[in-house]
Amino acid sequence: MDQRPFALSEVRIVEETICELCGRASVETTIHHLIPKQYGGADGPTVQLCIACHKQIHATFTNEELAGFYNTIERLSEHPTMEKYLKWVKKQAPGKRISIKKSNRKKDK
Ligand SMILES: [Zn+2]
Ligand SMILES: [Zn+2]
Repeated sequence: MDQRPFALSEVRIVEETICELCGRASVETTIHHLIPKQYGGADGPTVQLCIACHKQIHATFTNEELAGFYNTIERLSEHPTMEKYLKWVKKQAPGKRISIKKSNRKKDK
């Protein structure tokens, strides 16, 4: 008889995840390589970031800057742009979809 317990790939782990940058809980997180893979960080340290923080980081820094200096959570959060962003994002509800856009002129009647 074919008795498969369960297919591991079908198990969805739903747990409370905390974004390591903004500290919000119950957010969907993604893995960020502190040193970008193209700069040899494939086996390097990673952090869990919510999608908003992750987008914000890559909108603010180039991979070169990330590899060269902004490769710790502390340094990332001390950058003025990130500081401002973090103040703002901490007030946002975790479930809310936040879009990080470069230009924002849709209401141009
Ligand atoms: Zn975050
Ligand atoms: Zn990343």
